[in-house]
Amino acid sequence: MAWDRIRGQDAARQTFFAALERGRLAHAYLLVGPDGVGKQLFARELAKAFLCEKPPAKMTACDHCPACAQVEAHTHPDVLYLRTPEGKHELPVDEMRSFCTHLALKPARGARKIGIVIDADDFNEESANSFLKTLEEPPPGSLLLLLATSTDRQLSTILSRCQVVRFAPLKPADLEAILEQHGIADAEKRSRLARLGSGSVARALALDDDSIWQVRQKLIEGLTSTRPTFQSLAEAWSKFYETGKDTAAQRMRVSLVLAFLTETVQNALRLSLGASVSGLTTAEADRLKAFAARVGTEGLMELLEKCVEADYFVERRVQLILVIESVLDKFTAKAK
Ligand SMILES: [Zn+2]
Repeated sequence: MAWDRIRGQDAARQTFFAALERGRLAHAYLLVGPDGVGKQLFARELAKAFLCEKPPAKMTACDHCPACAQVEAHTHPDVLYLRTPEGKHELPVDEMRSFCTHLALKPARGARKIGIVIDADDFNEESANSFLKTLEEPPPGSLLLLLATSTDRQLSTILSRCQVVRFAPLKPADLEAILEQHGIADAEKRSRLARLGSGSVARALALDDDSIWQVRQKLIEGLTSTRPTFQSLAEAWSKFYETGKDTAAQRMRVSLVLAFLTETVQNALRLSLGASVSGLTTAEADRLKAFAARVGTEGLMELLEKCVEADYFVERRVQLILVIESVLDKFTAKAK
């Protein structure tokens, strides 16, 4: 059945089954977990299960009736989505109000309405405040699902009115199976992408792109040349993220390059401490050692901190080009 498509999130599903069994379904749930682990898919499946016209079992959609088809196609009149508009960093209060107004209307075809806030990380004070009344007393029969990457990012007013359901990063085996469904036929490639994907389908799929491996190559060359230059890396990195199809994909691309940078600096640090690092040619290892000697242990630690900080800024929607520039400035200063 349809739930089978959602791998590795049995605990989350169990939460809803149990609540329904006990007749204790809450009005609002905050689905929390990293990007790309299936929260949106789960919310859609849940909407389908609640709105299906011929459910074969409790909490299970038939996947064939008109209601199921409409939820799948994002055209069901009783499922409302709210997301941060392209190019914006916050949920605008006007859109929040319109979402609440529509939620209060009678269901058009089903017995209930389901409101899904895709970007619950992006509430600002104003949009959160305008949502509170609906969140506290949703229209009868309606269900609110808020999707977020961490509870830390939620305003306490929102958090205190939701039941939290945690979504874990996917296990490599689950991730590999999902990558296979996405048409990646080569098992070795699936395994490599799953290993590097940090439990996220979106991240693993973003890595399935030759251009990122070219950026990685440029990055290692830039870092380890005798006269480090980050000009070509800056160009490659900017070009790479700009071709992301939306801002979420662009953030992912910047974050992936940061992960490569982190990995490279960590390798340099390990080598400088006499540890061995697998997967490097002798020439690469020698160049990384030379880089480590030039920068020094403290310098390497500073570079690692810079990468962590930059990733945080990416998550916080700081303008990407500024993040990239500040990282490369730091590397330039340290690697002279
Ligand atoms: Zn159905």
